[in-house]
Amino acid sequence: MILMNDQFITRGEAHIDIEDRGYQFGDGIYEVVRVYDGKPFRFDDHLIRFERSAKELSLSLPLSSEEIKLKITQLIEMNNLQNGIVYFQTTRGVATRNHAFPTDSTSVLTAYTKEMNRPYEKLQKGIKIVTIEDIRWLRCDIKSLNLLGNIMAKQYAVDHQAYEAVQIRDNIVTEGSSSNFFIVKDGKILTHPANNFILKGITRLVIEKIADKIGIPFVEKEFNLKQVYQADEAFVSSTTMEIMPINQINDKTITNSPGSITKALQEEFEKLIKLN
Ligand SMILES: *Cc1c(COP(=O)(O)O)cnc(C)c1O
Repeated sequence: MILMNDQFITRGEAHIDIEDRGYQFGDGIYEVVRVYDGKPFRFDDHLIRFERSAKELSLSLPLSSEEIKLKITQLIEMNNLQNGIVYFQTTRGVATRNHAFPTDSTSVLTAYTKEMNRPYEKLQKGIKIVTIEDIRWLRCDIKSLNLLGNIMAKQYAVDHQAYEAVQIRDNIVTEGSSSNFFIVKDGKILTHPANNFILKGITRLVIEKIADKIGIPFVEKEFNLKQVYQADEAFVSSTTMEIMPINQINDKTITNSPGSITKALQEEFEKLIKLN
């Protein structure tokens, strides 16, 4: 079953209008929430961010956060999802094609679940990343359906036998195509400030809390590629990648990956999953 507004229907029954603004303009927002052992992880944080994205785009949600939470929880149960994700999005709905916001459209919410294993092997071995120029717009803080810059970056990674592409704007390392980026230097975790140049990840937020708990400084500060090459450790984070160590950056291999701080964060993250 899938959720469409407040209705549970089959995927085959779902109908998307050719003039839906999400389809025509990418005029909408989304979230991906991890489900561990049948329970959504950090669902409230995702809902808060979903509401914020909506507000930034003057998009009205068809259901309240509490209703979305209830319906999606029911969807997870109906589909008997144990380990995987729930994807949900809202578009501005159907209107005659015109760039300006329609005054009479009704937003469309859809949600579906998908089984997905945790990336166990990569979490232990680490991944290769490549760097690429950040060509995205200047409101990367909104989790919008417009992902052309992000998908082009990810394709660049695939074309270069890498798992993620980390983007650089004006010499400053921003974030991955669908993940936040971190380096560890002299016992401190460094990551790009949560401003309009990056999407403020929920996993990033979890990492910030873990760092606080285990007494590792979490520093939001700009850094460049040279500093990345000189870092002791590097990792990316996202709902599906969790805390993912990096073992190669472009042509430079990083030995001893995951490093001790990345490992400590992963261990604490593991505890939070069990507590979820
Ligand atoms: C979703 C996303 C992230 C990671 O956010 P999480 O909430 O941790 O999944 C990072 N960067 C971009 C561009 C994203 O779209």
